[in-house]
Amino acid sequence: MFNPTDIRKDFPVLEKYVYLDSAATTQTPRQVVEAMCDYFYKYAANHGRGAHRLARETTNHYEDAREAVAGFIGGEYEHTIFTRNTTESINMVALGLDWKAGDHVVTTHVEHHSNLLPWIRLKEKGVEVTAVTPNPDGTVDPGDIDSAITEHTKLVAITHVSNVFGSVMDVEEITKIAHRNGCMSLVDAAQSVGHMPFDVKKIDCDFMAVSGHKGMLGPQGTGVLYLKDTDSIKPVYLGGGTIYAMTGDDYKLEDAPGRFEYGTPNIPGVIGLGRSVEYVTGLGVEDIQRHEEALGRDAAKRLSEIDKVEVYGPQDRAAVVPFNVVGLNPHDVAMILDETRKICVRSGYHCAIPSVKLLKVDGTIRASFGAYNLAEEVDLLVDTVEQIATTLT
Ligand code: PLP
Repeated sequence: MFNPTDIRKDFPVLEKYVYLDSAATTQTPRQVVEAMCDYFYKYAANHGRGAHRLARETTNHYEDAREAVAGFIGGEYEHTIFTRNTTESINMVALGLDWKAGDHVVTTHVEHHSNLLPWIRLKEKGVEVTAVTPNPDGTVDPGDIDSAITEHTKLVAITHVSNVFGSVMDVEEITKIAHRNGCMSLVDAAQSVGHMPFDVKKIDCDFMAVSGHKGMLGPQGTGVLYLKDTDSIKPVYLGGGTIYAMTGDDYKLEDAPGRFEYGTPNIPGVIGLGRSVEYVTGLGVEDIQRHEEALGRDAAKRLSEIDKVEVYGPQDRAAVVPFNVVGLNPHDVAMILDETRKICVRSGYHCAIPSVKLLKVDGTIRASFGAYNLAEEVDLLVDTVEQIATTLT
């Protein structure tokens, strides 16, 4: 039975702070830290590179983690590539696809910079990029994606959940539209995997990028790139671990996933990520979603009732709540929340300047929720923001 009060004992940092910044990074449960400590204390060695027992044990744990993560996202083992984060995963697609001048990418203005800059840079190769303008609440109509696609479009790259608005995109429908038009689709799932049921097969996307340190409650420096077709991109980096055979001046690539995992990877991180998806599965993703979204809706509703507070985003939202106190700088409000009540929220542009600019504001304050947050923390946030709004404006 999912109980956020019970699970807080797994997150010692929460004893002291009101942590409402899970969209930036989540707290890591003790069990995940312990799995990483076990690696260092009990069997540390390199992955896939040795016959001795520690190398074998390390390789087994690393590959078990791949099995666990692949199962968690609904994908197959060979198609689940470990990366450093969402940003690296998206860049691997942008740099690994075979582009010709005149090819076209459709994305949106509600993206994180990590799902915009890699496409914009392709303009240097003559690739054209169209960024669709979302609705004022940060949702994107699949029909608008359809209209932006041309006969030259090769890829539609879109976020599942906006880290600025908390809006949820219909990535399944958008992928259908992309495929109907003969294009591929990439889903930036940084803010969705672990926060809501997620299945790459159901969405049917060609590429999915995610970080381990957000909804999956894993360590920083871990991420995943899911490839529907492992031959659809070329590896960006080559080196140890990526080749099957080497003849001195020629080489044959390893099969996936090895060909994409160059050099010594973040072994303890990946092992921690394997443990973290087991942990999240144990809590139950649907219960997590129900709980987090109820907190988000409650926070959004009550904040919007405060005089001089503006809340952005759709009513039907993920657990990401952007707001402003009219007349106050978002960073100042975030500092006051921290200094007075140890409430940790994010403020500013959230690495998504075009998205925040749609709101015609110079940044927002963002409260975002995790499985471990409590209704009392929403009460504290709302009361403190109300005090700030009444005394300082
Ligand atoms: N995409 C979205 C929607 C995000 O919210 C973030 C980070 O907040 C990223 C991409 C980039 O994630 P990372 O910094 O882990 O690569």
